[in-house]
Amino acid sequence: MEIKLYNTLTKSKENFIPLNGNEVRMYSCGPTVYSYAHIGNFRAYIFMDTLRRMLEYNGYEMKHVMNITDVGHLESDADEGEDKMEKAAKKENKNPYEIAKFYTEAFLKDIEKLNIEKPETIAKATEHIDEMLEFVKEIIAKGYAYETSKGIYFDISKLDQYPVLSNRNLEEQIAGARVEVDPEKRNPYDFAIWIKAPENHIMKWESPWGLSYPGWHIECSAMGRKYLGEEFDIHTGGVDHIPTHHENEIAQSKGACGKIPAKFWMHVEFLQVDGGKMSKSLGNVYTIDQLKEKGIEPLAYKLFCFTAHYRTQLNFTFESVASSQKALNRLREGYLMHTEGSDEISNVVIEEYKTKFLETINDDLNIPAAMGILWEIVRNEKKSKEFANLLLEFDKVLGLDLKNAKKYIEEQAKIELPKEILDLIEQRKQARIQKNWALSDQLRDEIQEKGYRIKDTKEGMTIEKV
Ligand code: AMP
Ligand code: ZN
Repeated sequence: MEIKLYNTLTKSKENFIPLNGNEVRMYSCGPTVYSYAHIGNFRAYIFMDTLRRMLEYNGYEMKHVMNITDVGHLESDADEGEDKMEKAAKKENKNPYEIAKFYTEAFLKDIEKLNIEKPETIAKATEHIDEMLEFVKEIIAKGYAYETSKGIYFDISKLDQYPVLSNRNLEEQIAGARVEVDPEKRNPYDFAIWIKAPENHIMKWESPWGLSYPGWHIECSAMGRKYLGEEFDIHTGGVDHIPTHHENEIAQSKGACGKIPAKFWMHVEFLQVDGGKMSKSLGNVYTIDQLKEKGIEPLAYKLFCFTAHYRTQLNFTFESVASSQKALNRLREGYLMHTEGSDEISNVVIEEYKTKFLETINDDLNIPAAMGILWEIVRNEKKSKEFANLLLEFDKVLGLDLKNAKKYIEEQAKIELPKEILDLIEQRKQARIQKNWALSDQLRDEIQEKGYRIKDTKEGMTIEKV
């Protein structure tokens, strides 16, 4: 079936057909590992995961690369300020390599908690310095870069067009800019591809221009080419990457290889908190573990992300994520009810649902609408193993780990419910399977007398302390 994806490059939804048969080559900009990734960052990786799962669901084989930026990302994306890694190292009184190792491990643990499939290749910038240097040399040899006292700069005036990805009007921006333009640059929007290291900079390498380190954008250009070739299918990132990072990656690849490296450029909109920006100074930057401390499972956060299409902003509040936690519990209960049901469902109904689901996810990854289909199945009055299997099939795309629903429910129950109550719940469940409603009601009242209120919804049962 046809797949349509929105391409930032052409600003339209286009038919997606991979360049190389059944294989999809995709590059995702990964984290800068100077601190814990926050829930906003994870919206980007949840998007990346759902996209690759959707492509796999369509029968494609993924060749997916994600980078780990452990050097070269300066405080501002436009070459201003200190290297984020070095700054964090000073603050924590550690060496930047220790910082990178610690936060890379934390990141990988978090993506596991979110049931995000690991890309086939995870590439660290510091392990690809030779490839980056080579890329820089090629850009210089083709006449697209020049040296200043600070480093090697890309000359954007040599390109036929800049920018190509964003609608930035450079002249207007220059007129309104508050920062002083480096007088050594030929054009105000020229950017560093290789940076000469100040004396006290720890991460630095030998190069024809002395001890120095790579610019952030060159990392992705060089690692993308190494693993995926000069031209690949999809490049992903957050919307903040459009005006600078991805624009400059394209410029570099055009300089060195004469090509825009990816066919499709896909960007996920920002997560906002309480209707505004997430920022450390506002104290509203949360990690996956901090949500967990407040009783929100990582997978509930994932389900929360599914409430909005990836190209619309999503507003985080504790209230809304708490309702996603409840929804996740109901989803698990609803799935389990189906696993125990024996109603007959015709093949036609199952096939219709499959087609509808596929059409929906293939329409630029419309996950909120796909969730609507899922809920319709969960709430169906008929309870059937065929529906349970269908939910598991759809979960290949959603990655909510539904197959382990029972384990999650038991884990939650262990924490919250005494054994006596658990036994009564189980007895009531059996009564309901046997359609013995009188016994079911009697057990519900007994549970309530012991301090727990049961509510039956179409998706299954919920329980709360009275
Ligand atoms: P960084 O570690 O800063 O390079 O960012 C990692 C990824 O998170 C990038 O793809 C960013 O575009 C993305 N990102 C950062 N903040 C947010 C946010 N509030 N909402 C969604 N994505 C974000
Ligand atoms: Zn990147």
